[in-house]
Amino acid sequence: MKTLKRIAAGILSTALLLGMTSCAAANQTEAAANSAAFTTIESGKLIMATNAFFPPYEYYEGDKVVGIDVEIATAVAQKLGLELVIEDVEFDSIIAGVQGGKYDIGCAGMTVTEDRLKSVNFSTPYATGIQSIIVKADSEITDIDKLLEGDYKVGVQSGTTGDIYMSSSPEDGGVGEDRIERYAKGNDAVIALSSGKIDAVVIDNEPAKAFVKSNDGLKILDTPYTVEDYAMAINKDNVALKDAINQALKELTDDGTIPAIINKYIPAEG
Ligand code: GLN
Repeated sequence: MKTLKRIAAGILSTALLLGMTSCAAANQTEAAANSAAFTTIESGKLIMATNAFFPPYEYYEGDKVVGIDVEIATAVAQKLGLELVIEDVEFDSIIAGVQGGKYDIGCAGMTVTEDRLKSVNFSTPYATGIQSIIVKADSEITDIDKLLEGDYKVGVQSGTTGDIYMSSSPEDGGVGEDRIERYAKGNDAVIALSSGKIDAVVIDNEPAKAFVKSNDGLKILDTPYTVEDYAMAINKDNVALKDAINQALKELTDDGTIPAIINKYIPAEG
């Protein structure tokens, strides 16, 4: 019965797509046409989980959450004929919440990793992130090798890729659990660095720049640690939603909307 319904939905969306190409008046995009095939937790809504302390991807302006992820997710929701609802939660609860059917998407500067792919699906990537190392301006830590070989304490945001890489054993390129201090928010790690409680923070480059700007006496090392893809996490059972989101992301990339959103928050250098 379920399969039949799915086939029916598939046929319906194909019919809509065909109808669309032959109907000049239809202002509907392919992504919206596909909406017949997917469901969301609450009808008419796209519930997005994020952690709104990650500028410029998500942060508070007054009591409003703004940023690159918010604008991209809003544009995607519009394409799908849905209203975006933002839930600001702890970063390390997002994957479990998407997996458990609490949120439709996790959109939080979230890196695609093999491990996370065991729990959720990811959309096509819409941005790139780099793990950066923040130290005090006068630090003796000059590069990643120096950080790894010393017995320096490293601050990370709990559950992030910075945490995963750094807390892994030295053989795997980390400093090991003993030298890790975890914080709920990236900026809390940066404040701990400023006050000398830890020696370095490993975090994504764009928030790193924002935090260094708002906390005196810090710098970002020239040697980035790793380059990553950001994408939206989606429940594994909702493949139709993933397909529709990917179609929307493609349209929004092709028509220049996503590049313009990213460029607004991260102006291209030079
Ligand atoms: N890109 C990192 C990750 O996915 C950090 C994301 C975040 O802190 N919001 O783990």
